[in-house]
Amino acid sequence: MAEKTRTGGCLCGAVRIEASGPPTRVNYCHCRTCRKASGAPVVAWVTFPAAKVRFTPEPAWYRSSEKAERAFCARCGSVIVWRSFADPEHIDVTTVTFDQPDDPELKPVDHLWMDAKLSWFDVRDELPRYHEFRKGPRVK
Ligand SMILES: [Zn+2]
Ligand SMILES: [Zn+2]
Repeated sequence: MAEKTRTGGCLCGAVRIEASGPPTRVNYCHCRTCRKASGAPVVAWVTFPAAKVRFTPEPAWYRSSEKAERAFCARCGSVIVWRSFADPEHIDVTTVTFDQPDDPELKPVDHLWMDAKLSWFDVRDELPRYHEFRKGPRVK
């Protein structure tokens, strides 16, 4: 059976993306770097194996910290990708980049970097919350 392929793109349409197969992770990130890069108080990310994601053309890359780089559309500035240098086999795509983001498989399952969350941003769902990364301790 053929794998499901999701399509998406940046705001202006210059960069298109295709991701095949199911995502490996989905989450919200409240960290400062995601906020700065996106212009939003929180970012929803969906992770795929890097080999399952194809860009047309390749977006622009920017090293956003010692640990990771981000890709964006050089024309409209849409934030498209986060990738950790420690785990180049996976790629995080901003969920809203996809043409059909209102997809149950793309629904975030937890909140990362709650320690950085803006106080006026109210999280009311029952999803697990982590101080930082998922491998670290959870917020009570
Ligand atoms: Zn664009
Ligand atoms: Zn983040």
